[in-house]
Amino acid sequence: MKIIIICGITIESNLIIINHCSIYKEKLSRVIMKPDDDLIGPNLAELMKKYDRPGPRYTSYPTAPLFSKEFDYERYKREIIKLNHPNNKTDLSLYLHIPFCDTLCYFCGCTTIITQNRDRVKEYLDYLKREIDLLSSYIHPNRKVIQMHWGGGTPTYLTPVEISGIASYIKKRFTFSDDAELSVEIDPRELTLEHLQALRQNGFNRISMGVQDYSEKVLSAINRNQGEEITRQAVEWSRSLGFVSLNLDLVYGLPLQTLESFEKTVDHIINVSPERIAVYNFAYVPWIKPHQKLIKPEDLPTPENKMKILLMTIKKLIDAGYIYIGMDHFAKANDELTISQMNKSLHRNFQGYSTKAGYDLFGLGMSSISYFANNYAQNAKTLTGYYKAIDAGHFATDVGYQMSFDDELRKYIIMRLMCDLALEISEVEQKFKIVFKEYFKDAIVSLQPFIEDKLMQRSGGTLKVTSQGRLFLRNIAMCFDAYLTKISKEKPLFSRTV
Ligand code: SF4
Repeated sequence: MKIIIICGITIESNLIIINHCSIYKEKLSRVIMKPDDDLIGPNLAELMKKYDRPGPRYTSYPTAPLFSKEFDYERYKREIIKLNHPNNKTDLSLYLHIPFCDTLCYFCGCTTIITQNRDRVKEYLDYLKREIDLLSSYIHPNRKVIQMHWGGGTPTYLTPVEISGIASYIKKRFTFSDDAELSVEIDPRELTLEHLQALRQNGFNRISMGVQDYSEKVLSAINRNQGEEITRQAVEWSRSLGFVSLNLDLVYGLPLQTLESFEKTVDHIINVSPERIAVYNFAYVPWIKPHQKLIKPEDLPTPENKMKILLMTIKKLIDAGYIYIGMDHFAKANDELTISQMNKSLHRNFQGYSTKAGYDLFGLGMSSISYFANNYAQNAKTLTGYYKAIDAGHFATDVGYQMSFDDELRKYIIMRLMCDLALEISEVEQKFKIVFKEYFKDAIVSLQPFIEDKLMQRSGGTLKVTSQGRLFLRNIAMCFDAYLTKISKEKPLFSRTV
């Protein structure tokens, strides 16, 4: 039997704790959902009908549709300047957006530019360097970067030389902590060993790879030619180069996906044994992402079949020893995500679940989002807009938002529900100096059906999401969202929750 040691504590991979640390046992048992936990229940089909509706994924609160032009580049600059003093020791997180992709995956929900003209990268990197210069001139060198993430698009669209060039450029202009977490999204299809070597040599230690599905039929329906061998090779290279953590992304709800086909995909993933697995619900929003019209709606699994696929996936991954994290992540028992969930220090950000918090996040590149103090700011979403701003010598902020007290309070509640699957009411009252039952009169009424449907429990001063309630976590969080009714109902801006 496989034994895992965590912080000097030994557990077996089948989740039976065999040492004598009772605090650890108690904490781990709180985050473990056992395979026989009541996920399905007798009334799941009815609940699905009742709660299936468009809703945010809450990688931020308020959500991006609330960002407005009133928060422009001047405002962004003013807010950064306020933070730029030697006493500010708040850590930094940097996000770099590399928008380019070689071909279009029909399911894609990212901000991308599809091109085979590699010359466009050089121009983009020149602008990115100018933005890095601008931002770094406002950031006191006392402040340390503890996290950097490159996303896209496809960061590995860059050549190994370009990767090294931009990585060393940014590292010279910010102070990086020795143990900074440097992560990157990889597309295995055009990856070479040299790409990974360049990333590793520049300090990257975590990799996230899109797999989506192993079924050839499904991959063909989403225009993603990624045979099994391609993923296997990318995983083998990353392991040989010593990346400490490998995350693989799967997507359920894709066209032509069946329970049987996805079961094979999950078996395959379990054999690959990544440290983390993200299982995303396909966001079918052709009114926002018109290229998704290339997917035939009749090829999409029904909500009932999607739910079956999800339940099978959860069960298989838990049986294989993974811990279910938040809404859509799975991690090995010794992974930092598991330990964070156990210690109630898990966080949610634009990249999903994270162990790090308490930093200022600065986005660089087209469409990237920053979040610092109580501000959100998003860069121009087109290359033309982004280049124009940088050419004019200012930040590329297009829209933004400054949070109010009410936003901060609701964000805290939504994030605790999405991360801890529970809410300690006294904690909220103390932190925000409010009386919960008065402040959230409306939310309490909205929560009642979830309590009656046994998707939530109220015991003493704790609101707890049940195992089955986890399948409706977005709906539960929506009870605390003050803006849903204000966002247009005619043209939903969010994907369906089920
Ligand atoms: S590679 Fe990723 S970002 Fe690019 S089109 Fe495909 S899913 Fe979208």
